[in-house]
Amino acid sequence: MTERVYNFSPGPAVLPVPVLEQAQREMLALPGVGSSILEISHRSKAFLEILAEAEANLRRLLGIPANYKVLFLQGGSRLQFSMIPMNLLRDSGKTAEYVVSGSWGEKAAEEATYEGEMRVVWSGKATNYDRLPAWSEVPRGPRAAYLHITSNETIQGVQFAADPDSGDVPLVCDASSDFLHRPVDIGRYGLLYACAQKNAGPAGVTIVVVRDDLLDRAPKSVPSMLNYAAYAKENSMQNTPNTFGIYVFMLITRWLEGEIGGLNKMLEFNRAKAKLVYDALDESGGFYRGHAQRPFRSLMNVTFRLPSDDVEKRFLAGATEHKLCELKGHRSVGGIRASIYNAMPMEGARLLAEYMRDFARRNG
Ligand SMILES: *Cc1c(COP(=O)(O)O)cnc(C)c1O
Repeated sequence: MTERVYNFSPGPAVLPVPVLEQAQREMLALPGVGSSILEISHRSKAFLEILAEAEANLRRLLGIPANYKVLFLQGGSRLQFSMIPMNLLRDSGKTAEYVVSGSWGEKAAEEATYEGEMRVVWSGKATNYDRLPAWSEVPRGPRAAYLHITSNETIQGVQFAADPDSGDVPLVCDASSDFLHRPVDIGRYGLLYACAQKNAGPAGVTIVVVRDDLLDRAPKSVPSMLNYAAYAKENSMQNTPNTFGIYVFMLITRWLEGEIGGLNKMLEFNRAKAKLVYDALDESGGFYRGHAQRPFRSLMNVTFRLPSDDVEKRFLAGATEHKLCELKGHRSVGGIRASIYNAMPMEGARLLAEYMRDFARRNG
């Protein structure tokens, strides 16, 4: 098959067509270089320019203050689950605090226990992760090394709509599945991280935005390849970084600034897409049952169930015939999950909503 489908995969996920086209055009030879991005040294002038542009574009898009570093790491967000407590908790005598709002938050919290004392300050597990806390519900410990949240729980489809205020405690945020989907007040965060393969590029590169004062907290026992300060000192190049991943990420930042017109526009677009799908869900008279409680619904991952497993199977098979693909929910929660990241075109959301209405009419 060479025709593109509407790809609702949770990650790796859909990328903007103009970005793929440019990568394709430049695959044999980067302009002015004569070799592919896949073939050039990470120390070459051409790659250093790509790396610098990726960082500069990201700084403009998010309005990142000067006292923050931008790092491009490997190992995915799962490695950040470990690096964060290694750098900020180990030997500190403090407690790492976690808001656990879904499957990813659970895993992040567990990793902290290997480095020191961890406390879950709020958990949504009792209601199967269908809601989020109000900040007044989250108790603050006096000995917190940091407070960790997951801005969007990819599997359950619950999302914080605003940047929380954690006071003096550094706020650490796993933004893997909603990075760059809206403007963010970076000043609220001590450290914000995202693997690229959900909303910002291919697998293999993870973006970390970290405030300078958190860089020197790592004890000597943290190896340099796991140490934020060491990466900051070497401009993310202690070893060979994911050059191709950084290149595609850079093209995506250009697309966000150019074609889209910035993150306010991106948010408008994402809201409009999500509304199309949630409206189809809400108008079905209970045929589709959304997983997330309404105020916490994700703009990125729409999760819902149908009346039975059998009807779900038929929904998925029919969707594929309409070129609406990868809609199966995560194995841990089942049901349907439509991931409608930045790069999902409006037309994809519109066709999915139309299919949902039609399917409900014929099967309801
Ligand atoms: C996908 C995902 C992860 C894990 O990312 P990897 O890069 O595969 O390690 C962590 N957190 C969230 C919120 C995710 O969506």
